[in-house]
Amino acid sequence: MLHYSCDFCQRPIDPAVGIRHVVKINVFPAVDSQNDESCSPENQSLGDDHLDDMHDLLERLEEQDLAAFLDDGTRSLRFDLCDACRQRFLQNPLGIQPNKSFTFSDN
Ligand SMILES: [Zn+2]
Repeated sequence: MLHYSCDFCQRPIDPAVGIRHVVKINVFPAVDSQNDESCSPENQSLGDDHLDDMHDLLERLEEQDLAAFLDDGTRSLRFDLCDACRQRFLQNPLGIQPNKSFTFSDN
């Protein structure tokens, strides 16, 4: 049997006592699909020259650079939360601390 713990407060979540809440966050570049028609299928008929250039580029990139090159910012995050942390999360999903920015401006 799987045992879950809250990703926020690290407390174990006993399904007999509390409900385990799952938070899924998907981060991806927003693409305006209404503009898709301007990208005609003709763009896919690229010549061999372009493929060679692409191959050279990929060969020159280090493995780490390649990962950054291919990274479009897409992330899928998943968290298990206990009920108390679920309520805290929903009150401030982005963890914004409104007064934090004034802490260093008193000098
Ligand atoms: Zn918790």
